Amino acid sequence: MAQFIGNIIVRGKIECLTGLHIGAGKDTAEIGGVDSPVVRDPHSRLPYIPGSSLKGKMRSMLEFATGKVGGGKVHTCNKADCAVCRPFGSSAADERKCGPTRLLVRDAYPDETTVGMWEKLNTDLLYAEMKSENFLDRITSAATPRFIERVVKGSRFNLEMIYGVYQVDGVNDLDFFTHVVTALRLLEDGALGGNGSRGYGQMRLKLADPVFLSGQDYREGSDAWKQVRQPLEDQAFKLGLDNFKLNRGDATCQAWDEVLKVPEGEVGKEGQG
Ligand SMILES: [Zn+2]
Repeated sequence: MAQFIGNIIVRGKIECLTGLHIGAGKDTAEIGGVDSPVVRDPHSRLPYIPGSSLKGKMRSMLEFATGKVGGGKVHTCNKADCAVCRPFGSSAADERKCGPTRLLVRDAYPDETTVGMWEKLNTDLLYAEMKSENFLDRITSAATPRFIERVVKGSRFNLEMIYGVYQVDGVNDLDFFTHVVTALRLLEDGALGGNGSRGYGQMRLKLADPVFLSGQDYREGSDAWKQVRQPLEDQAFKLGLDNFKLNRGDATCQAWDEVLKVPEGEVGKEGQG
């Protein structure tokens, strides 16, 4: 049985150190001579980073790093102790066995400063730049220029990840959060979106102190719960992945001691009820 302990809320900023191209696909091809447009919010027309792109990239990099890649398919062993399947989710059929998907990654939208910067861009494209890349035709060896739309260097997107902590058969998900941090580290040294080998998609994360919301916080609508609903000031995003830790008793996350204490209490309550 999966017992819900609480959620870890991680908020941060994704800073683009180079241009970023997350393709929208051919169905949404735009006018203006762009061969490959970026994905945009249909209402505001602002480029954004889909949560599925972030999570998918994190997952695939972690699969490579843990030697779980094979057959060209997404790895799913659905084992309860798998560094990939436990935090990143398994097939719906196995959710009952392993509990629900732990990691939820929200779509990342640009912050206000970034939108202001985009509005002043000297470009023919809306909120983006166009870059010409030569692609080699493998048959004719001719270099064909293609026009790639990309989000400009220096753009910042708001990141929010929610990691559900469950206790399943005596194993607490908190122990698996470290694999999420590993995936984020791999992402920083990899690339987000397309054309990574051409220098696109390099990014850095700046994170705020993570917040743990227990089942009780949700039941009572506590101050901690209310706080997570408020936007954070820019100064709050001060942690890099080098000093972002969820170690027990870590100065940056004093709540972890309590986190680790909760399971017994909750499990005990269930037994009495
Ligand atoms: Zn697995």
